[in-house]
Amino acid sequence: MAALEEFRSETRAWLEENCPASMREPESEATMIGGGKRQQYDDPNAKLWLDRMAERGWTAPMWPAEYGGGGLSKQEFMVLQDELIRVNARTPISGMGFSMIGPTLLDYGTEEQKREHLPKIISGELRWCQGYSEPNAGSDLASLQTKCEDKGDHFLVNGQKIWTSGAQYADWIFTLVRTEPQAPKHEGISFVLIDMDQPGVTVKPIKLISGNSPFCETFFDDARCEKYNLVGQLNRGWTVGKRLLQHERSSISGLNSGGRRGRYDNIGTLPEVAKQYVGLSQGKIADPVLRNAVTSNVMNQQAFSLTQKRAMEESEEGSTPTFATSLFKYYGSEIGKERLEIQLKAQGTQSLGWEGDMFSDNEKTLTRTWLRSKAGTIAGGSSEVQLNIIAKRVLGLPD
Ligand SMILES: Cc1cc2nc3c(=O)[nH]c(=O)nc-3n(C[C@H](O)[C@H](O)[C@H](O)COP(=O)(O)OP(=O)(O)OC[C@H]3O[C@@H](n4cnc5c(N)ncnc54)[C@H](O)[C@@H]3O)c2cc1C
Repeated sequence: MAALEEFRSETRAWLEENCPASMREPESEATMIGGGKRQQYDDPNAKLWLDRMAERGWTAPMWPAEYGGGGLSKQEFMVLQDELIRVNARTPISGMGFSMIGPTLLDYGTEEQKREHLPKIISGELRWCQGYSEPNAGSDLASLQTKCEDKGDHFLVNGQKIWTSGAQYADWIFTLVRTEPQAPKHEGISFVLIDMDQPGVTVKPIKLISGNSPFCETFFDDARCEKYNLVGQLNRGWTVGKRLLQHERSSISGLNSGGRRGRYDNIGTLPEVAKQYVGLSQGKIADPVLRNAVTSNVMNQQAFSLTQKRAMEESEEGSTPTFATSLFKYYGSEIGKERLEIQLKAQGTQSLGWEGDMFSDNEKTLTRTWLRSKAGTIAGGSSEVQLNIIAKRVLGLPD
């Protein structure tokens, strides 16, 4: 306990000295850093903050120090999280390197793969994207058809992926490919890592109604993949791919941070917003139906955060997520969606702002956040798919 308190006071002092003032301002989607060769640092302090945190391994606090991680115990990690929140520190870097492929390489990668890829994720040198979905393989992911052929000293990959988030900024892609077309569909799949900086890989951003392009189509035309970039065994990639999805779901639901960060803090808390837009009557939110919805969502969110924290505290040191992660992914994304719907009702017509002076910046952010919250119940496997997993793998119900 004394050692933990010493760690806390050292961490506090280090953060006071090393976290630049502008990195203590609230973060938005625009200020988030994903790293990689194409990352622009509009504020030089963002790069400084990233470098300082990466040097201590604190961009990946619990990864082993031998690969450049922080090597922290779970308890130390939770202290670090507390202290980062105390000074309102921005997350120095985030992305699929940290939430998905890094933890999967720690589970299944060879020593060579870990030494090659993990340090470059930790420092922010390289950025990753996920090549799972295809035009005819979403929920039924094992139907994927992207072909990967053995060419002796390397593999050749041909096919198409879709909804590849951030592919236009990524340097590498982890992807599921078909290596044995004749085998039953789950048994002919392999998990490979592909360098995107080559003529055989083309990325086409998909323009959404919002004007943004968060996703892409990614095409492989004779893309080369070195054999040492096969993760796990040939034709056994489904096992690796499923584990990665558990890490992804754990991250989407905030489970890997013990639920310590409020996801929608940038648009105000629900009670504050309701008071501001609807007003008070006898000290309570004036509209009783809205009051009921706000109270119930806040209580459920609080119970959920405490459950996340408890799950983190009870998990064994270094333990990896399980099928039960689907419970958190399902509930976290559904309650998040509900929260945004309630806020929308509270703000009335002011919640429909897209552009122009009639709406505050906060109101315009709400509209975008509300639309984005719908995607949370689809990305990483839809809510229906999570319910299927919970039924089959957690509750043991028949197919
Ligand atoms: C924000 C976001 C980011 C994404 N990023 C990536 C990415 O980076 N890389 C990537 O590879 N993919 C990505 N995806 C794609 C995502 O994984 C798929 O959208 C998801 O798996 C669902 O597949 P689908 O869109 O093909 O829908 P479908 O599988 O066609 O599903 C359509 C509907 O049918 C329901 N359904 C399907 N099967 C069943 C079933 N067996 N039982 C009950 N209901 C069912 C689904 O729940 C859904 O409501 C992203 C998606 C979103 C929204």
